[in-house]
Amino acid sequence: MSDRAHKHNFHTHTFRCKHAEGDVADYCAFAVENGMETLGFSDHTALPDDRWQQVRMGYDELDGYIDAIDRARIDFPDLVILKGMECEYVPRLDSYYAEELLGERGFDYLVGASHFFLDSNDEWQGSYGGTRDAKSLREYTDYTIRMMETGYFDFIAHPDLFGNCYAQWDDDVAACSRDLLTAAHELDIGMEINALGLRKQAYKKAGNPYPLYPWIPFWEIAAEVDAPVIVNSDAHRPKDLQARTADAYAIRDDLGLKNMDIASIGRRHQTDDMRAKSEGTHG
Ligand SMILES: [Zn+2]
Ligand SMILES: [Zn+2]
Repeated sequence: MSDRAHKHNFHTHTFRCKHAEGDVADYCAFAVENGMETLGFSDHTALPDDRWQQVRMGYDELDGYIDAIDRARIDFPDLVILKGMECEYVPRLDSYYAEELLGERGFDYLVGASHFFLDSNDEWQGSYGGTRDAKSLREYTDYTIRMMETGYFDFIAHPDLFGNCYAQWDDDVAACSRDLLTAAHELDIGMEINALGLRKQAYKKAGNPYPLYPWIPFWEIAAEVDAPVIVNSDAHRPKDLQARTADAYAIRDDLGLKNMDIASIGRRHQTDDMRAKSEGTHG
């Protein structure tokens, strides 16, 4: 693995999500000290109806998050800093993603993440523990593909999250994985090999029957269907910005997976005007 692999991270949290440490400047300082070139912030998104408050910033914290990123762009001029959010997709709040975050608030990119999913009764289920059987796994899959089809999300965080609660690789999980990864190929949306998952695997308790994520058979199918992939730390502490990312890159390289075009992140949602203004500022 080349050093270059450690130079970019597009999945970074801050204290605002209530389960991470440090603010934007703390992550930027670590990144600069450790030779990184690009840091994309993707804290758990605020939502205008303040649902699921335990694991995300409040809507009233959104301005402070944006200000912290804007200030860091001045204080760390050698680092390319992108403004993003890790988002569940709430269809009822569609205009929030399209018009507010990617529109007036000027976010560079959004990360899709199915921590929750809509079941076949159009009710929300939690993905940690909620995808234990073939039916719920199919609902998770259909929901995640629906999220991908919106075009709002540049990549999907830990798409193999179901490894937390689905114990055995079988025909059902293979079929769902194939559908997710084929959609990623067709829509050209990155699938994330998540290094936080590797860090969690390292501390997995004996007797835990679940494979967690990254779940290797999932990534073997990614190779078959030529899905674009991205490696990220999913840092919840500044010192984790490069933690186990080398092992995540090794999965990518060992399986010969196709790289997502990371230079496209932050450009997909730009108008021609914005693109002209930002020419040369990153890439
Ligand atoms: Zn996540
Ligand atoms: Zn995350």
